[in-house]
Amino acid sequence: MGIRERGACWVVSSIFLITRSRAEYPVYRLNLVDVSGKGRYYLPWLMISCIIKDETTPWECPMVKLGTFFAAAIASLALVQGASWMFFARAFAQKAPACTASSRLHIVAAENFYQDIALQISGSCARVTSVLSDPDVDPHEYEPTVNDAEAVATANLVIENGGGYDDWVNKLLAASPDGGRLVINAWDISPVKISGNEHVWYCAEDMKAVAAAIAGDLKRLRPSQAERFEKNLTIFDESLDEIGAKIREISNRFSGLPIALTEPIFTYQADPMGLRVLTPFALQKAVAEGIDPPANAMLIAQEQIRNKRVRVLVYNRQTADRFTARLEELAKGSGVPVVAITETMPAGKHYQSWMVDQMDALESGLGGPGAGGGPR
Ligand SMILES: [Zn+2]
Repeated sequence: MGIRERGACWVVSSIFLITRSRAEYPVYRLNLVDVSGKGRYYLPWLMISCIIKDETTPWECPMVKLGTFFAAAIASLALVQGASWMFFARAFAQKAPACTASSRLHIVAAENFYQDIALQISGSCARVTSVLSDPDVDPHEYEPTVNDAEAVATANLVIENGGGYDDWVNKLLAASPDGGRLVINAWDISPVKISGNEHVWYCAEDMKAVAAAIAGDLKRLRPSQAERFEKNLTIFDESLDEIGAKIREISNRFSGLPIALTEPIFTYQADPMGLRVLTPFALQKAVAEGIDPPANAMLIAQEQIRNKRVRVLVYNRQTADRFTARLEELAKGSGVPVVAITETMPAGKHYQSWMVDQMDALESGLGGPGAGGGPR
């Protein structure tokens, strides 16, 4: 195969790859969903066949064949582009009047992951602020400020986690009664709940319910934009498939393996992955509450790590204390991989990428060097 054909193959495959990655990255999916159909596999097939075929000498490749290839490639691209344009055209034709700065709603989310989800649903129709986003602050021990009180007092919609996690929101709501203000309590509406464990945002199924509630409330507050909110909700729901797929992948590879947790937050993902959490719950709970764990729970957790009875230590960096630091030190000394996770969403991430990136790290930890073979 000659340099020109090879070059053409690379150009076509690069265009395909760019289109595909844009289509699959949830934030950029907005107007490219049409590209995600099965048709996208036509181009790599063409590319591969054009590389494999005629690998003898370049000009032995009949021009007819070459012409057919280019025509097919261009037609495929045109189809994909046309579908995307049609989607744009349809979206523009049906679009409700744009949200102006003066008509913008104000949403206050207690934590930044709810802010991100609210933004994905509201788009430009709301200004969304959050109270807790500092990675150095332990949300379990947060005390609200005067600014927080003012934000809650002027909000059209307030999103709290509930379940005892951020009771300060209820105090702020009570301090500024407003019959027109809507409130979403994530814990109350979550279909998946682990008793004594309020970290429902680590469960994508629960966030689907929260996103639906946000869309519902936004439609009540701005009925003229109902279609926009519905569309954004569909895109959000579809983007959660990536999280579900990752959980299934880890479950297929590592289900049944024992792990350690410093804090109960990760149980919402460890359970569906089929991982066995060996750390005594009393220790995890004490870390979440910022109190000293029972001595025997600490001794058991240390023994499990020291003797490598657990395959990884999932370490919540945001609720670290001297007890978790001791466990981390032991894990490092014993060669047990430490997988860092956070309570709130790190800067520069979206809810979906945050969850998936952490699970990627866990997957490497479980399958990394020193971790041995598959499940046992
Ligand atoms: Zn926590």
